[in-house]
Amino acid sequence: MSVVNLSAITKRFGEVTAVRNLDLVIQEGEFFTFLGPSGCGKTTTLRMIAGFYYPTEGKVKFNDKDMTTVPPEKRNTGMVFQNYALFPHMTVFENVAFGLKVRKLAKFDIEMKVEDVLEKVRLSDYSTRQVSQLSGGQQQRVALARALVIEPDILLLDEPLSNLDARLRDEMRNEILRLQREYKITTIYVTHDQVEALSMSDRIAVFNFGECQQVGTPTEIYNKPVNDFVAEFIGETNLIDVNYVESLDHQDIYFSEVLNKNIYVRSGVSLDSEEMVLSIRPESVRVSSSSQGGTNSLLGRVELVQFTGASVHTTVQLDAGIRILSTDLNTGPETYVKEGSKVYVQLPEDQIRIVPKV
Ligand code: ADP
Ligand code: MG
Repeated sequence: MSVVNLSAITKRFGEVTAVRNLDLVIQEGEFFTFLGPSGCGKTTTLRMIAGFYYPTEGKVKFNDKDMTTVPPEKRNTGMVFQNYALFPHMTVFENVAFGLKVRKLAKFDIEMKVEDVLEKVRLSDYSTRQVSQLSGGQQQRVALARALVIEPDILLLDEPLSNLDARLRDEMRNEILRLQREYKITTIYVTHDQVEALSMSDRIAVFNFGECQQVGTPTEIYNKPVNDFVAEFIGETNLIDVNYVESLDHQDIYFSEVLNKNIYVRSGVSLDSEEMVLSIRPESVRVSSSSQGGTNSLLGRVELVQFTGASVHTTVQLDAGIRILSTDLNTGPETYVKEGSKVYVQLPEDQIRIVPKV
């Protein structure tokens, strides 16, 4: 069990800066996720924690111990790779036992430990099977068992579910969480999938272009994105460019040029920066066929109404040419407005976030 402390780490590959000046502290026992689009530096950061890469600048510490240039086999981390990286012609048992044999444990201890971990990942009945005969989900369990069997201080998982189909992904998501809770192990999980990140993590770091944009709990990241990149990357959102006008008591006024309208905001934080954008989640947008009065009521025409099972998605085209998406968990008949009809879209003052553009 370890605290992972990254201070000002940068990794360059020739001209490419994969990770830039990153500071992060991952707490003991935490489930911490690196989230971001492909190529933003997630794997590179994970590899610097595992020791497969050394940073160009900065320090990696486990607890208070400097690990920056300690080789991987001396770090006691367990890693699960995206492609599993198992030995296909060895049995499940041999794959899982491999790390223990390298560590020269006694045969009896190896058998005990492997049996124990195979039970934890529910593969006890498969120990003599060849890995190449297993399904993708089972291979992923072997990879997890192999990482856990060495009793690592830190578990590192690089997009472990991206090769599985949707249903198996859900199942394995729960499985990984169950194991993490059972072992209470500091876990760093890499993904580009925001649903995985939001549903599994204690905290998330959102990456873009080798830089960390925001660190927070899933609800903080979702409800209080610090900029337009985070707002757009996590979940769905509506974005409208605005300029600051003035602040009144408990209310800020912004002007949208494209709507030619003032927008009133009660967020508790006024922002007056160079380029700003209003962000509002679809579930906060209300659509009605008659004006409800009040502020931030915008006239538009219904473009599309879609039933998704759990919710109804309504896309409204505003006069200014902007599209606004509204989602409603109430799927009763009163939610459905007619495609092509005139409607009012309301943006509640306390549901709007104003964020800088990056
Ligand atoms: P992610 O895991 O978020 O998709 P990576 O950490 O793999 O991103 O890559 C970040 C950037 O660093 C990319 O531009 C990638 O091309 C580059 N990169 C990663 N590994 C190497 C390497 N070994 N040599 C050169 N460039 C690399
Ligand atoms: Mg990667």
